[in-house]
Amino acid sequence: MRFDVLTLFPEIFSGYMTQSLLKLAIERSLVSIHLHNIRDWSRDKHKCVDDRPFGGGPGMVIKPEPVVEAVEDVQGRDQQTGHVVLLTPQGRQLNQTLVEELATHKRLLLLCGRYEGFDQRVSDLLEPDEVSVGDFVLNGGEVAAMTLIDTVIRLVPDVLGDENSSRLDSFSSGPYPENKRLLEHAQYTRPREFRGLEVPEVLLSGDHTAIAKWREQNSLERTRERRGDLLEHTDSPKQEPKP
Ligand code: SAM
Repeated sequence: MRFDVLTLFPEIFSGYMTQSLLKLAIERSLVSIHLHNIRDWSRDKHKCVDDRPFGGGPGMVIKPEPVVEAVEDVQGRDQQTGHVVLLTPQGRQLNQTLVEELATHKRLLLLCGRYEGFDQRVSDLLEPDEVSVGDFVLNGGEVAAMTLIDTVIRLVPDVLGDENSSRLDSFSSGPYPENKRLLEHAQYTRPREFRGLEVPEVLLSGDHTAIAKWREQNSLERTRERRGDLLEHTDSPKQEPKP
């Protein structure tokens, strides 16, 4: 899976890309991340990409020309164009259903805003998929883009050691009954007893049927306690992979 990230601060990604799961996925050529500095498309001699908002008001707005030209240029460099995602608090809210949808694309092009965001004509012309990571305002789209990448790569085949790992995660469309998206069951590891708290006996029994039943029950209970809203929703049929 390929990600192209258009940002004014590509350096923010360097630590993230060189650690842990993403580092391994890149080394194994399962994922590639291409960073592009929007400033490189500025025609201004000072590489300026923002200006004051028409009508007045605080802050600066990212100009449309460098962004639209950057997207056209980056898209044109490869036969397979990317699905364009613009990170904005005003977009559809990222959740596991949307993550699964985004993971059906082979290439995603992520647009990270800064300041007061992009000039409206960026959206009018590119018609991107506008995505928010939550009802709060970040200083820039980079952390949102990393969140999106981090969630999507978990669904790229072979990125996780065990395919079941993401299938069993909270909110996943994996194993739960009646197409519900539930919270994952409680997890335990060694020691068997810690400060008087013991691991449930059934998990030590080796009886896989009983363990599966306990986990499903635990999953349902904690979803009911913590996120009853999830039990009210039933998933629509699964999406086919997109070219
Ligand atoms: N003035 C904008 C508004 O109120 O809608 C917020 C601009 S924010 C300070 C700057 C940039 O951060 C945005 O253009 C966007 O790319 C990113 N951003 C902020 N919050 C976000 C969120 N919740 N989800 C995704 N991106 C976000």
